[in-house]
Amino acid sequence: MGLKNPEWYRESLRDGRVTYIAGESVPDITQNEWFSTVIDVCAEDYNYTDPATRDLRVYETEDGTEAHRIFKIPTSVDDLEKRIAMSSVTGIATGVTAVLMALYNIKDQVAKVNGQYAENIERIYKYCRDNDMRADQCITDAKGDRSRHPKDQDDPDLYMRIIDRQKDGIVVRGAKLHITGASLVHEQTVMPTKAMGPGEEEWSLSFSIPTNAPGVKIINRAYAKPGLSEMDYPLSSHHNAPEGFVVFDDVFVPWDRVFLAGEYQLAGVLAHSLGLWERVGGLIGMVKRSRLLVGTAQLLCEMNGIHKASHIQEKISDLVFYAEMLRMSLEYAVKNYKVTETGMVYPDPLAVNVGKFYGASNWHGMVQKLHDMSGALVLTLPTEADYRNEELTKTLNKYLHTKNDVVVEDRMRVYNLIRDLTADSFGGWELVTTLAAGGGLAAQRIVTMREYDLEGAKQQAREAAGIGGGAHKGGRRA
Ligand SMILES: Cc1cc2nc3c(=O)[nH]c(=O)nc-3n(C[C@H](O)[C@H](O)[C@H](O)COP(=O)(O)OP(=O)(O)OC[C@H]3O[C@@H](n4cnc5c(N)ncnc54)[C@H](O)[C@@H]3O)c2cc1C
Repeated sequence: MGLKNPEWYRESLRDGRVTYIAGESVPDITQNEWFSTVIDVCAEDYNYTDPATRDLRVYETEDGTEAHRIFKIPTSVDDLEKRIAMSSVTGIATGVTAVLMALYNIKDQVAKVNGQYAENIERIYKYCRDNDMRADQCITDAKGDRSRHPKDQDDPDLYMRIIDRQKDGIVVRGAKLHITGASLVHEQTVMPTKAMGPGEEEWSLSFSIPTNAPGVKIINRAYAKPGLSEMDYPLSSHHNAPEGFVVFDDVFVPWDRVFLAGEYQLAGVLAHSLGLWERVGGLIGMVKRSRLLVGTAQLLCEMNGIHKASHIQEKISDLVFYAEMLRMSLEYAVKNYKVTETGMVYPDPLAVNVGKFYGASNWHGMVQKLHDMSGALVLTLPTEADYRNEELTKTLNKYLHTKNDVVVEDRMRVYNLIRDLTADSFGGWELVTTLAAGGGLAAQRIVTMREYDLEGAKQQAREAAGIGGGAHKGGRRA
């Protein structure tokens, strides 16, 4: 019980979990180089002794114990702000554990349909919170033919389903795709991918199961190879987030770990409980990255002597507009927070979805501007190994020179940052992730149109047009 430490976290991963990466089975991820960087980052979240991060990481629970803040349901704007600040010092295994907070917050809604499920949510939440454990968000199903319902697919397992109900529990089969940090957490927490309807009881399913449960198998995919040079890959050599293709091959789930097994009317409640927080996370990431884009562009253009050119200033100001719109969306969302019936304080969903949509749909365009300002060295710059080769150092210093106050190695580092962030393996991952993670653009459009005051806007139009008695007054423009 209580807060653990980095050593405990590392040891806890050696539990016989079945994982694969790059075509090979990995019997112990703590001994595998593909996982070494990310495990270091995730273990750091268990460092509760550093005064710089302790207040952000630790909170006092209602039971008077200490726990990691990821479990804290925000009940004040201070909680909300701390949660956002915490996310910038948090590794992926902890970040995804927000799933348990989101589930705990809807337990009263779940209790209206099935009290046992609500009790199970509360028990698993407290078990993980009080033992400082981590859980992932197994939501996205394989989905097969997107135009068909789960029951109409060629293979019924394309959406995860219950294949057997037994006295002590259920047996489930299916796969959850793209699951961030799946191999790095203690619990695989499964939620329905979408709302379900009558006839879809088999697929209306939610539960949590230990990662090493028999039948759970995780195929990992990571964007950064092990042992990358820090100079060539300034970002992806320091952090890496493997996504897991999590297969559930006839996994037994005891009843006390089941949150939903057939009551289709709850599937949507569970599926949507996390969406807002996912997008808040996406928006926080984009706020950070957009500022980095501005700084990187300005730095490189100054190094290359083009920062005073009018077309460059225009492009950099476009990046600034982008970064500021995102920052203001996030700030507005927090300042204009909302409160649920259960007392949870959450950021304004309209601002979050508008910000996330705007950021995701314009990221590619911003990257294009950066590439246009940078030129081909983004791709063709010789590597650190070339630069350190004594036969080449002098030549590279000569031909990569721009002006006396620019150190060639620094200029190379800026180009490497641009390539790593936008044009290499991690950069490609970012391009797709910005769009897909937390749901694609269509998902944000749906929430935005649901939240937007369309009736109010129509009323404004009616008044401006002089319809229904609201005459257009004094020639003022609407
Ligand atoms: C890096 C990364 C990390 C992720 N982490 C997680 C995670 O931890 N947990 C998790 O559960 N998921 C995770 N995801 C998955 C993410 O939530 C999904 O990618 C997203 O919901 C889109 O689903 P999809 O990839 O299956 O694409 P699809 O659903 O196939 O969408 C592709 C396109 O098809 C459209 N489309 C789909 N269905 C229909 C339909 N019926 N009618 C009309 N149009 C349709 C979509 O709008 C979109 O334009 C992650 C994704 C990425 C890239």
